[in-house]
Amino acid sequence: MDLPHKESFFNIGPERYLNYLFALIALAFVAYHVYRRYCIWRLGKAEARFDHLPQRVGLLLRYALAQLKMPRDPWAAVVHYGIFWGYLLLFVATVLDGTTYWLKFFTGYEVLVGPTYLLYKALIGNLGGTLALIGLLAAFYWRLVVRPNRLRYQTEDWVILGLLLFNVVNGFELQAVRLALTDLRSHPEWAYWAYGSYPLALLLSGLPESALRPLHWASWWVHVLASQFTIAFIAYSKLEHILFGPLNIFFRSLEPRGTLKPIPDIETAETYGANRVPDFTWKQLLDADACIKCGRCTANCPANLTGKPLSPKKIILDLRAEMDRTGPLYLQGRRPDGPSLVGDITTDDELWDCLTCGACMEACPMEIEHVPTIVDERRYLVLNEGRVPRDVVTLFNNLERSGNPWGYPPTTRADWASDLGIKTVAEDPGAEYLWWVGCAGSYDERNIRVSRALARVLQAAGVRFAILGPEETCNGDPARRAGHEYLYQILAQQNVETLNRYGVRKILTACPHCFNTLKNEYRHFGGFYDVVHHSQLIVRLVESGRIRLGRPVGRRLTYHDPCYLGRHNGVYDPPRAALSRLPGTQLAEMGLHRHRAFCCGGGGARVFMTETRG
Ligand code: SF4
Ligand code: SF4
Repeated sequence: MDLPHKESFFNIGPERYLNYLFALIALAFVAYHVYRRYCIWRLGKAEARFDHLPQRVGLLLRYALAQLKMPRDPWAAVVHYGIFWGYLLLFVATVLDGTTYWLKFFTGYEVLVGPTYLLYKALIGNLGGTLALIGLLAAFYWRLVVRPNRLRYQTEDWVILGLLLFNVVNGFELQAVRLALTDLRSHPEWAYWAYGSYPLALLLSGLPESALRPLHWASWWVHVLASQFTIAFIAYSKLEHILFGPLNIFFRSLEPRGTLKPIPDIETAETYGANRVPDFTWKQLLDADACIKCGRCTANCPANLTGKPLSPKKIILDLRAEMDRTGPLYLQGRRPDGPSLVGDITTDDELWDCLTCGACMEACPMEIEHVPTIVDERRYLVLNEGRVPRDVVTLFNNLERSGNPWGYPPTTRADWASDLGIKTVAEDPGAEYLWWVGCAGSYDERNIRVSRALARVLQAAGVRFAILGPEETCNGDPARRAGHEYLYQILAQQNVETLNRYGVRKILTACPHCFNTLKNEYRHFGGFYDVVHHSQLIVRLVESGRIRLGRPVGRRLTYHDPCYLGRHNGVYDPPRAALSRLPGTQLAEMGLHRHRAFCCGGGGARVFMTETRG
């Protein structure tokens, strides 16, 4: 045949079939490892994550295949895109190579021949190798010269990078020797297409065939053994993320990021929260296995950045270590003893430092869900162990007794509006919007100014709204995020009952935490409402001409994205749109804005705790 093609297993005798034996052994290691981890995940509690399959496939395409989070860090993007796409193409090239061989073996038909072969060589094999080489060289430069703090520098990482680099270089060298023996001697014009090896092939072409043949044979075997070893190494290193990462992304929660799940049957539960491996859900255990220890979560954690001991990466890796230590014992039916995960390994301080801001989850390329795990561990502290900081005890007492975090009398909740002529929903049951004012909007001096301003805006626009007045109590968010799920459920049920009794459908709120809870979490208690943030309503009112803005403000403004409005619920544009419609304003963005916004420090009930660390 004189069309461009490659002789499969060129220069390799019948021992070529050992290649498949080694591949099977390597895959057996990987399969056994996956099976062992699967058994450990099954120790966890049930959690429904098999719904909305098309949406989950979309997640896989966006975050596993296209790796859409990578461009946020240019170095990481070069490294990961290079290695990932490079190795993916090399994998495709290997599969095509093998398929071509067996197809020809059984049918005599050769697929990779002529221009198809040249394109395969240039756009799959050599492009894959080149991309992987660029990614790997960038990885070495990044780690040796740039040395970002968030990365760890352990032997395992260097071994992985070294193995991957060796495979690529060895692959190019193997191809170069073959070119020197074949294409360069008979059809030099075919050899250009293997551009990754072409220069080396030219250098080698001066060697005699008697030297090149054994060199090719040895290189082929080194390539086979090194690549099968790399596959087997998936089972013993963080390379396992190649398997667990996409799986974790596929099973990611489809709820808005800030949504927490209730403890089911809380009245009859024997234990609360999570401390031992079987206390976590299978998805939380899978999370721990998917972690690549990249440190992005901790590098973006406002608690960690302000000097507190909390590191979300450590929270996840602590759980992983607990799975490694106790998982096999549970599988043998034994009850492990030793240190407690919560308290001994992950400290109380670390757990109480969390703001539930979601910056870790936003940054994590594996879509690991840190916040539900941290809250579950807080639930264990609060409901099982009763280890609660004094400020949080005060918070719980105030919520229980007065329905607000500061212990103000519930009867004074609507005092801020006493001179504004605002009706309660009992007085105006036909109001279009129920305005959920929230505790801060009702009792906090600065927030009362916001409430009064919003009331004037709504009245000027002729919006028919009403408030609950003294019938409103805290939505329960601080109790829930501080781990007191029981108290949260009491408050939530009470509020849902009140809202449903009045037939409320549309709720307006200015508080991001109320917004998140009413919109996403009251559904679990039978409360289904159309919840809008006041910025969303204001934009609509301006656009429809119900509010006319005349007086120029003449100021340069910026906007801070609250975590529970932006990162947790994706409401980024309406507040900006509302501000930019003010005449004479100039809107400036802070360095950290939208999904990267820096938490104010108040979430996760932290606003009610005294700062003692960091
Ligand atoms: S939710 Fe925020 S404070 Fe808590 S671990 Fe994640 S980044 Fe840190
Ligand atoms: S949890 Fe996510 S962001 Fe944090 S180290 Fe692991 S993979 Fe990286």
